[in-house]
This record gives sequence, structure tokens and C-alpha cells, in this order.
Amino acid sequence: MRLLAVHAHPDDESSKGAATTARYAAEGVEVLVVTCTGGERGDILNPSFGPGPDGVEAMRELRRGEMAAAARALGVRQQWLGFVDSGLPQGDPLPPLPEGCFGLVPLEEAAAPLVELVREFRPHVITTYDPSGGYPHPDHVMCHRVAFEAFHAAGDPDRYRREGGSAPWSPLKLYYNHDFSMNRIRTLHEAMQGAGLESPFGDWVESRSAREIPEREVTTRVDAAAFYPQRDAALVAHATQIDPDGFFFAIPRDLEVDVWPYEEYELAESRVPTTLPEDDLFAGVRGGAGGAA
Ligand SMILES: [Zn+2]
Repeated sequence: MRLLAVHAHPDDESSKGAATTARYAAEGVEVLVVTCTGGERGDILNPSFGPGPDGVEAMRELRRGEMAAAARALGVRQQWLGFVDSGLPQGDPLPPLPEGCFGLVPLEEAAAPLVELVREFRPHVITTYDPSGGYPHPDHVMCHRVAFEAFHAAGDPDRYRREGGSAPWSPLKLYYNHDFSMNRIRTLHEAMQGAGLESPFGDWVESRSAREIPEREVTTRVDAAAFYPQRDAALVAHATQIDPDGFFFAIPRDLEVDVWPYEEYELAESRVPTTLPEDDLFAGVRGGAGGAA
């Protein structure tokens, strides 16, 4: 079995579905993380990191090293698609995106390297973000679009034809990561309050409730708590992005395992019959034929 996890930036693979990838890799599934951009325009989000490097080139180099360490912690392979981070536009009105960034690349051009990679790696299952991106970063929205396009186009011999390219391949299932669902955040928040601890999620719960963002459907819960230590090691590896004293590490790990021992997904597309809810991304795939076109 082969699993392809498509992410926007280095560190996204460690905050969304990380323990799932570590678990499947440990079980012998071939797991490949593909990272669309180099994360060059990420801010230093860890106050204990110190001053950041100068310019996008230096940031790219730094984050390459972090990504390699995170992949080692998860026990997965990782490849870059080679696009440039769009940055998170801030202000009112929002400034235009920087020239040449991932968010501005036309879909056919942006999806082409991923289509080729799908044909080469031949994943049975692909994971990525829902159409909203999960949160409104232009690279996350674009990440969804290229993964959705590759899921649908990679098996079609008439699309994305390339001299010397690999044979068409149709992946069997497409999932969206839902690790930042309101349900999870609220559960963690209430568990901390119940234990008499200070929760960092209060503002989050309030502002999300106020905005009435509709929750997306969860179809699949993968039991992954045994691999939370690998997830945590991968998170810490992204030292420019993850504050070891920040909200990612606020909930005591024994409490987390008690109240939220899984990672959640939405089955967006399936070319195999399966019964919902599921507890395995490969439900309906194992023992069946491959995904050849
Ligand atoms: Zn990201």
C-alpha cells in the first residue's frame, strides 16, 4: 500500500495527519509527504528561536533542514514540488501576492509536477486539505486545488501528457485532513478546564463559534495516539515555526491520549466501495486490485 500526503509548507505534515503517516509507515505502508512550497515566506513563529535568517533563500535552506529532521522523526519519505511560498497576506485591503508565488501559478502548471509524481509513486490514497484550505492561506487553497486536480487527472492518458513521463495511475481514495476541527479544539479546551488547567484554546473556540464556520463532515478516525511522540518530535523539528511552549504542546499528553486518541479525515472521493464511518484510510483498498488506469 502507498500513501501520499500533499501539504503546502514544511511543518504542515507535522500538524495535520502526522501521527497517521508515522503509524502507516511503521506498519509497512510506503508513505510519501510532498510539500508544494519551500515555506520561504514563513515568519519566525517560535519566540525562543531568535532572529530569523536574511531573505527567502536563507529561509528556504533553514526549512529544508527542519523538514528533513521532521521526516526522519515520522519515518516517512518527503519530496518538494518546488514552488515558492505565497506568504500569508495581511492588512486591509489585503496586499497583492508576490510575483511568481505558488498561489498565482495557473492550475495546469501548478498541478503538472504533482500529476507526474502521482504517476511515478502510484499512491492508493492521497490526503490533502478541503477546498477552503482548512485555513485561509493562499498556498493551502492552492494545495487543495493541485491535489484534487492530480487525483482526477493522473489516471487520464489524455491529460498532462509528457514526453518520457510515467504511465497513468488512478489513486483510489482522496481524503481531507480535519485536525483543526472545532470539535477537536473544543474537546481539548474542555478537557483542560475539567482538569483545572489553563486552556490556550478559549479565544479560538469563541472566535470560531462567533464566525459560525460550518464544520465539515468527518468520515474517518484513525487511531494514532501511539504515534503522538513521533508527531511531537516532528513538530519540534520545525524550530522556526513551532514554539515548544506554545499551544501545540499546551495539553498534557496523557490527557490528550485520553480524550482525543485519533486523527480525523473526510473521505472526499472514492473509487472503491467502503462503509462509513471508517477507521482506516485503506478501507476497501486492501486486498483489492491496484489503482491502474
Ligand atoms: Zn502551511
